[in-house]
Amino acid sequence: MNIAVFCGASLPHNTRFVDAARELGRTIAEGGHTLVYGGSNLGLMGVLSGEALRCGGRVVGVIPTLFSEDIIRSQAVTELVRVGSMAERKEYIIRHSDAFVALPGGIGTLDEVSEVMVANQLQHLGKPMVLLNFDGFYDPFLSQLRVMHDDGFVRKGAETALHTVASVDELFAFLHECPRIDH
Ligand code: AMP
Repeated sequence: MNIAVFCGASLPHNTRFVDAARELGRTIAEGGHTLVYGGSNLGLMGVLSGEALRCGGRVVGVIPTLFSEDIIRSQAVTELVRVGSMAERKEYIIRHSDAFVALPGGIGTLDEVSEVMVANQLQHLGKPMVLLNFDGFYDPFLSQLRVMHDDGFVRKGAETALHTVASVDELFAFLHECPRIDH
C-alpha cells in the first residue's frame, strides 16, 4: 500500500505522539508499504520518515519548489517528488496514495485532512482517511464534525470515509480489512 501520512512539522509537548510517529514509520516500513508524505525532516514528520528509512522502508517526499533548493536536497527520503505549489502537493499525494493517515499536527495537517474529506465528499475519491486519535487529540475536531453533520452540512461520502483509531495496531487491522483499498 502507498500510505500517505499527514502530521505536524513541529515537535509536540506530548511525547506519546513522538513515540506514535516512530511506531507508525517502523510499521509502514516493516510491512513493506510505501510512506508518502510532505517530505520534511522537521518535527513529527522527521521522526516518522527517519524511522521508516532506518527500518529500510520506501519513503516518497513530495516537496513544493517554493522551498529553497538547499532545504529540498537536505531531506532524507528514498524518492523526491518536486511539485509547483502546496496545492499541487496535496493533489499529488491524494492521487498516488491508497489511504491517508493523520497523526497529531497543526493547521497544515488539518488542511490536508480537510482536503481528503472534501475530495471524498465531492469527487467520490473513495479512499479512507484515518485519524490516529491518540489521547483524544482529535476529539474536539470530531465533535465539530458531529455538529456540522447534525445541522445537515456534511454529506454522506465524507462522513463514511472518515475513520478513527486509537493505536497503530488498530490502524493496520483496519487497513488490511478495508474494502476501499485495492490490496
Ligand atoms: P502543521 O500541521 O501545520 O505542522 O503542518 C504539517 C503538514 O503540512 C505536513 O503534513 C506537511 O505536508 C505540511 N507542511 C507544513 N510545514 C511544512 C514544512 N516546513 N515542510 C514540509 N511540509 C510542511
